[in-house]
Amino acid sequence: MINFNVPPFTGNEIKYIKEAVDAQKICGDGRFTKQCDRWIEEKTGVAKSLLTTSCTHATELAALLADIKPGDEVIMPSYTFVSTADAFVLRGAVPVFVDIRPDTMNIDETKIEDAITPKTRAIVPVHYAGVGCEMDTIMDIAKRHGLMVIEDAAQGIMSTYKGRALGSIGDFGCYSFHETKNFSMGEGGALLIRDPEYIEDAEIFREKGTDRSKYFRGQVDKYRWVNYGSSYLPSDMNAAYLWAQLEMADEITSARLARWNEYYEQLKPLADKELIELPVIPSECKHNAHMFYIKVKDLDMRTEMIDRHLKSNGVYAVFHYVPLHTAPAGLKYARFHGEDVYTTKESDRLVRLPMYYRLTSDDVTYICEKVKEFFE
Ligand SMILES: *Cc1c(COP(=O)(O)O)cnc(C)c1O
Repeated sequence: MINFNVPPFTGNEIKYIKEAVDAQKICGDGRFTKQCDRWIEEKTGVAKSLLTTSCTHATELAALLADIKPGDEVIMPSYTFVSTADAFVLRGAVPVFVDIRPDTMNIDETKIEDAITPKTRAIVPVHYAGVGCEMDTIMDIAKRHGLMVIEDAAQGIMSTYKGRALGSIGDFGCYSFHETKNFSMGEGGALLIRDPEYIEDAEIFREKGTDRSKYFRGQVDKYRWVNYGSSYLPSDMNAAYLWAQLEMADEITSARLARWNEYYEQLKPLADKELIELPVIPSECKHNAHMFYIKVKDLDMRTEMIDRHLKSNGVYAVFHYVPLHTAPAGLKYARFHGEDVYTTKESDRLVRLPMYYRLTSDDVTYICEKVKEFFE
């Protein structure tokens, strides 16, 4: 049996967790949290990284920092995970969905400008499968209309767009370290802050509305309640688990890329015969092999492939996302601007094949044989 996902594990996790425990520092912002944050800052060039309890929470922090208010509108794709929208709906804002591009499954940058109204405050590009959105165009639109850009880079760590790290291009970037992502701490994430002027407010929102971070740096002599906020700090034990992977980030990424390329090569004959479609990586993007997906003809064929053929051969493949504008909460809290040409159609026919750090070449060969067999 080949699982769809196996959480990443390099071997040093338990040792580092024990170090956190032995140091009697298991709450937030301990040694491992700081090491992870420094690693992210060095890797991406942002002014500040703040580890959080999830990417959802990092996005909530970004919405607080962007001062999103009830009635504000936020432009995003409908083809995304619920958190992208949730973080803004919690602030009373209205997600305004625009269609995706069928090649990358990312927001169609050419549809954004038409969705802007006087209420629009932010654009939230989602870097699907760790492949960058057309960020130059998006940043240009944001600049001309005075909008903030919050990157949902949940899947995008170690990926770049024109040499710049995903998550470091917009005002804020959000990473996920959920167990399904390339690097994990069980549940967790990070907020990336491009410009230093937001650091202090971010620390306050993340620390229950207090200036505790300043207090620990010796910048104030007592810490007080200075604003509203919440508790978005992960335990240092979780950060210890993550550190064991960040220190091996290059190895993990190259192993994933090797498997990704094997999938691509072995399935190419099917794509040449136009039986399936393969992922498209624009030339300005370097990706992190977060995901390997194919597209089949339609929903019926997908169901047949996942539920009947692959499962009975011991291969666990999955699909996602139910477009947010068709989901119960989407109908209630959000709206779709323009026409849904690709969002529903393309999401209906997408199949995600197993992809994780310790997936072997033999596994990939077996899975590709089963996919080919399906078309015989
Ligand atoms: C995984 C994911 C999230 C949520 O991440 P959590 O860390 O589980 O909160 C948000 N957006 C996208 C696109 C994701 O893939």
